[in-house]
Amino acid sequence: MLHDVKMIAACGMNEAMRIVRCLLVYSIIALTGCSSKAQVAPVAPPKGFTFIHCSDVHVGAGNNHETDAALFAEIAKLDPKPAFVVATGDICEYGTDEQYALYRETLNNLGDVKMYPAPGNHDVRWNPRGKEGYTLGTGGPLYRSWDYDGVHFVTLDSTVLLEHWGHISQEQLNWLKKDLAKIGREKPVIIGFHHWIGRESVQTDSEQALMDLVKPYNVVLWLQGHGHADIDWNVNGVPATMVKGLYQNSYDIIQVTPDELRIRKRTLPDPKKKSSDELVREKTAPADKIQPVVKPLMNIPLKKQPVPNIVADAKLEDDQIVIDATAPHGATLEYRVDTAHPQPLSGLARIPTTQLVPGEHVITVQASFPDKRAYQKPLPVTIPGAVSQLWQTDVGGEVQSPLVKHGDTIYVSSMGNDLIALRDSDGKEKWRVKTAGPIFQASHFDDASNTLYFGSADHFVYAVNPNNGHVKWKAELGGAVLAGPNVAQGVLSVGTTDTKIYGIDASNGNKLWTVQGKNMFQSKTATDGQRFFVGGWDNFFRCIDAKSGQEIWSKELGRKQNYKNFSAFSPAITSPAVGDGKVFVSTNDGILHGLKIENGDEVWRVDWKKMGYSSPLYRDGRVYAALSDEGKAFCVDANTGEFKWTAETGAVIYDSSFCFGGGNVFIANVNGTINSINADSGKIEWQYRMPPGHLLGSPVADDDRVYMGSMNGLMIALPIHASRQAESAVGN
Ligand SMILES: [Zn+2]
Repeated sequence: MLHDVKMIAACGMNEAMRIVRCLLVYSIIALTGCSSKAQVAPVAPPKGFTFIHCSDVHVGAGNNHETDAALFAEIAKLDPKPAFVVATGDICEYGTDEQYALYRETLNNLGDVKMYPAPGNHDVRWNPRGKEGYTLGTGGPLYRSWDYDGVHFVTLDSTVLLEHWGHISQEQLNWLKKDLAKIGREKPVIIGFHHWIGRESVQTDSEQALMDLVKPYNVVLWLQGHGHADIDWNVNGVPATMVKGLYQNSYDIIQVTPDELRIRKRTLPDPKKKSSDELVREKTAPADKIQPVVKPLMNIPLKKQPVPNIVADAKLEDDQIVIDATAPHGATLEYRVDTAHPQPLSGLARIPTTQLVPGEHVITVQASFPDKRAYQKPLPVTIPGAVSQLWQTDVGGEVQSPLVKHGDTIYVSSMGNDLIALRDSDGKEKWRVKTAGPIFQASHFDDASNTLYFGSADHFVYAVNPNNGHVKWKAELGGAVLAGPNVAQGVLSVGTTDTKIYGIDASNGNKLWTVQGKNMFQSKTATDGQRFFVGGWDNFFRCIDAKSGQEIWSKELGRKQNYKNFSAFSPAITSPAVGDGKVFVSTNDGILHGLKIENGDEVWRVDWKKMGYSSPLYRDGRVYAALSDEGKAFCVDANTGEFKWTAETGAVIYDSSFCFGGGNVFIANVNGTINSINADSGKIEWQYRMPPGHLLGSPVADDDRVYMGSMNGLMIALPIHASRQAESAVGN
């Protein structure tokens, strides 16, 4: 039960929300009850029913709610009447209270047909309440299971708080393991969630762990969304169906009979395609003239199917990866390297390693049968390079934030609710502080008071003795503390999801002042020792006097949008940096701003018109940043904004930001690659690829080593310079 509370309470709540939370917990207990009954009863075939799979409802964007409402009305009138609807995510466009209210209104058209939604990235990425906004808005939990007429249904939360990417948390995998154990290995299971699995472009970085977990069970279908396409594919012999957005007029009608699933797809034919059995739209004809069609998609047996054995092996021979595989009878083989396009495989393949970044790679061998079943076998391979790992450790929770280092200790914020202190020499855990919610942002080490401060989604700010992890004090604020604190003049400042920026006495946690914003805060506060700098989702960037809490200036920054107190292009994600009498901050529209510290006037800007989620680093008169979803990074003169260098890392950089160590700067690509770049010249000195797990946080470095954590909970240490590897290794 505690676990359930935690899962719903992903971020922050007041009294009214607590009541909702209790109601939700009750409903989960009821559902879990269903599962345990199934354990006792033998597996009986379904009598037969129909349900609907829809996805990407996106209420709040344009007039989507009108189409959604019309389709809900249509679904409610289907014959036979569907038992329920499973919606695989992106229920609302930006996840605001207003959009969820509109969603609930459209839901009226479903009548008494029950809706089981799962969250999508749009539900949590800009949500002013974090994941709690989704549970309140839909009145349902983030993930759950239920039984219906002999079939076990599961919806999962594949979202990452305030992010675009997919990830199934360790916490959920633990829950799913227990949930499936209760139903036995023969009962048909249908699992739905937003970000897809088992495709060449990886969205869900923990997909292999999920696939391994469900292997012994009788999963018969994956319901997927996010891609806005009417497509299907096959994961280890199990079909996966994706539908276009509901507002794009598609949904799956799934009929369950005693021995099979019969899936039909309801969709609007493409007006451009001329086809004899579809109505064709003339260019001048209005859109409502296109009639929807319902086409059979596939039939799936409910009985557990035998799994063929794929014999496959990948090993390193000199500068080649040699793949050796035997196709099961009747199957054809393909292989792919990480996320590259699959290549045909006839027995043996040799891949030159020269094109691959050193580190961990996964070769996937796939055996496909004429009946569309496909089975995948992952084969991890380590490619040696300029540097190799000095140590690795699993901290047991997702690492999504920048790391902090002080003395010989690395401070790791974890989405698994803990703040963990690791010894830098070997990664050994010194202590951990457990909280009741995810720790999203970096902690702050204050030298003056020798205290480590951090915020948790459990609404508290914590002050901790860095020597032993003992909590000196903790203070409850009005919402989830997803932002990171900073300290100046004995005052700690941090923003929260309750739209306030707080000033707190750093010595005892007493509240001194608040500044009222118009939306939530998630980034780390910056300071010049006198003033605080905080950017928010309300488009504003504020400068606040540390002692008095008086707003010295505030600027509207980032492209505006037609929403109340919100723009997706706000200066909200990146944490500002201070230096040379200026404050540097990126807005999400891909502009790095150099502002005069006194009055916020813009001195210069770098506009790459892409996106600016990566925080700037100031050091010795230079600013280092990555302003691109193409992996481009740069260094500019802090005074003039003139380029010193640019570098191409070769893959997407999201929130990861530069750190400095031993003459180099370091930044991570989402795909697992850490880049070591010479700070003077911009030359990439080395790259290293970590084992699977999105890299959304930022590394930290000292003079000898760089440290990085992944969304799969893995922390690693690498030497800063290739040449010093030998010395380092001997030193330990
Ligand atoms: Zn999506």
